[in-house]
Amino acid sequence: MMSSRPHSVEQTVSRQAARYWQATLARDARADGAFFFGVTSTQVYCRPSCPARRPLRKNTRFFSTPRDAEREGFRPCQRCKPNQIPEAVQIVQRAAQVLEMDTDDAVNVETLARKVGVPSDALRRAFRQQAGLTPKDLSAALRLKRFKKFLREGSNITDALYAAGYGSASRVYERSDAHLGMTPATYQKGGKGMKIRYTTAKSHLGEVLVAATERGVSAVYLGDAVRKLVSELRAEYPLAEIAVEKGPYSKWVEEIVWRIEGSAPRHELPLDLQATAFQRRVWKQLQKIPRGTTRTYAQIAQAVGQPRAVRAVARACATNPVSVLVPCHRVVRANGNLAGYRWGLSRKEKLLEQERA
Ligand SMILES: [Zn+2]
Repeated sequence: MMSSRPHSVEQTVSRQAARYWQATLARDARADGAFFFGVTSTQVYCRPSCPARRPLRKNTRFFSTPRDAEREGFRPCQRCKPNQIPEAVQIVQRAAQVLEMDTDDAVNVETLARKVGVPSDALRRAFRQQAGLTPKDLSAALRLKRFKKFLREGSNITDALYAAGYGSASRVYERSDAHLGMTPATYQKGGKGMKIRYTTAKSHLGEVLVAATERGVSAVYLGDAVRKLVSELRAEYPLAEIAVEKGPYSKWVEEIVWRIEGSAPRHELPLDLQATAFQRRVWKQLQKIPRGTTRTYAQIAQAVGQPRAVRAVARACATNPVSVLVPCHRVVRANGNLAGYRWGLSRKEKLLEQERA
């Protein structure tokens, strides 16, 4: 439950400074863009993940934007280049901070924009660019307490959206990731030209939808209602030719249900996935995680050679279309927290439990 007692401004400010300092000490790349720290002894400012030596707390000042730091006479660090974080990333990051700190339930786009210190149009634009959210999605998400709860528990925006039941992969497809040094998306928009056949089966984790092209499995969805899973499939591949067909893929479905029940793989399944180059690399790493073990988002980011891309890794996990076959359920937070799962946290919990047994 949220506290109904309002916090004083001083309390909020010192709480925020304490969090910033923690993130600075941890070199937390997830905080990049949310704030900047300046070192008074050198008059240089950095992003939280900067690899340089940490300053003393008493020599550290925090700023919301590079502009604020520069107005006070600080110069950007040559190593972490804090002035090169795109504006949209900064806005979304600051908004996430505000939402995390905020105890006010009735937040809407306008009040959020005011607290972030940008016009509401700029806020909407930034969310559209960074999280693929339309203004309507954003308002709906803000109304949802659950969304804020996940943010408070340390999820990033995209994780929180999935955990709160928002978004489809097509909406959150890698966008404007130039700041992470990613290759541009090779994802073919909407599955144009694809012929997809699907079938459904029951498992103890609920309904399973398996969709495939003649080249391989392209979707494994878990949920409570077949109808919802089918409409998710259509939303993910709006331009594909989609039809139900039981026969030809029954062997694949059998194997998938077998794995969902916690059994070790019996044979490999071909996959036919539409993915960006980055997603492909992340999903390949996920397939290397042995059954019964887990990895953190940061470890996967290391493994794909982009240690700073932790948020993008989380997003790639959240947009994995083939649950279980690409075991995104084996990725957890560094603190052991399970983080989000596109198919529901309780399913993630059960899958991990079974595999450990
Ligand atoms: Zn730096």
